[in-house]
Amino acid sequence: MKETEASYSFLKRMAWEAGLRKSNLIMPLIVDESRSNSRYLITTSMDSLENKVQKVIDLGIKKIMLYGIPKTRNAKASEAWNPKGVVQSAVARIKKNFGHKVEVSTDICVCQYNLSGHCGTMNSAGTDIDNDTSLIGIKTIALSHAEAGSDILAPSSMMDGQVSCIRNCLKENGFRNISIMSFAAKYDSCLYSPFRSTAFDNYNQTIKINKSTYQLSCSNIRQSLNEIQMDLNEGAKIIMVKPGIVSSDLIVAIKNRFNCPLAVQNVSGEYLMIKLASEKGLINEVEWALAYLIGMRRAGADMIMSYHVELISKYLE
Ligand SMILES: [Zn+2]
Repeated sequence: MKETEASYSFLKRMAWEAGLRKSNLIMPLIVDESRSNSRYLITTSMDSLENKVQKVIDLGIKKIMLYGIPKTRNAKASEAWNPKGVVQSAVARIKKNFGHKVEVSTDICVCQYNLSGHCGTMNSAGTDIDNDTSLIGIKTIALSHAEAGSDILAPSSMMDGQVSCIRNCLKENGFRNISIMSFAAKYDSCLYSPFRSTAFDNYNQTIKINKSTYQLSCSNIRQSLNEIQMDLNEGAKIIMVKPGIVSSDLIVAIKNRFNCPLAVQNVSGEYLMIKLASEKGLINEVEWALAYLIGMRRAGADMIMSYHVELISKYLE
């Protein structure tokens, strides 16, 4: 849909008045070791990594969150802590070429690396996730990301004790300047399915994964606040909430109760609904994306991670 000078100015003013700035935005980059694109979301190949990061910096965006999709998965998820793995290689290359021009957060989980798609390690009977065994993997991934140069470690598995285990590991290994951004309030949600389908390259496989035993129920805000309190006690610097648009009440409650910086993720399902409707010519992606992001900012998000970042950045100061 065509944009006029008047509508450009209107959208720009609306974003400005809501306090939405480029400095609030985090660009998610899904680095895929084997494919250059996916049917569901935009991915970045290793070959185009530097070009992509340069483009993001040129738009005035200074925060990136890295997710990796490895060439091969295995039952142990060992590619997740391979020092030459996809995220480790990507973060090392970004830091070598761009230094402090960009702040890089790295996702810490095993679900893109194992065969089950679960965020933890299964018990020996294969019936449930074993929290303590999962923490060993999380710690190993965290150390490999820290050694590769990550600025912020972002554990997203929702395992109990993941923040303190990473904190202790960083301390033991002399990493004093790395922060932890915890996905403390990650609701069990169908809205993540485009990301999971990208990781598996298969939607049918995605919908069979049930994460309700470790992700939060969307019906329970008190449990979310308790999880956040625990993660802050364990040493998290930044708290992440997802999905974004359906969590406005939680964003407000967090800002009223805690003093920490709050990041909100506008997740893949929220993005894809807008993207596909706009591709069909039914809606205008910019207007809708800005409406979502302004709502999250107004509710209290200090940072917003969104797949719409590149498109909307020209409307922001
Ligand atoms: Zn996961």
